[in-house]
Amino acid sequence: MSSTEKIVSRHATSDGIVVWSRCACGRLRMTLIPYDPSPCGQERRLTAGGRCPECG
Ligand SMILES: [Zn+2]
Repeated sequence: MSSTEKIVSRHATSDGIVVWSRCACGRLRMTLIPYDPSPCGQERRLTAGGRCPECG
């Protein structure tokens, strides 16, 4: 995770852990971390909004 982001809140849903983080520029971002492990052992994350256009 980028050091420019600060965790705003995190809470459990039926699909996984939802983490809200705020970028250094003020953009709010939601990341879903699913409970089920991926076959390859890597952590899967779904991030809404994609990369920050301001901070990369
Ligand atoms: Zn930013």
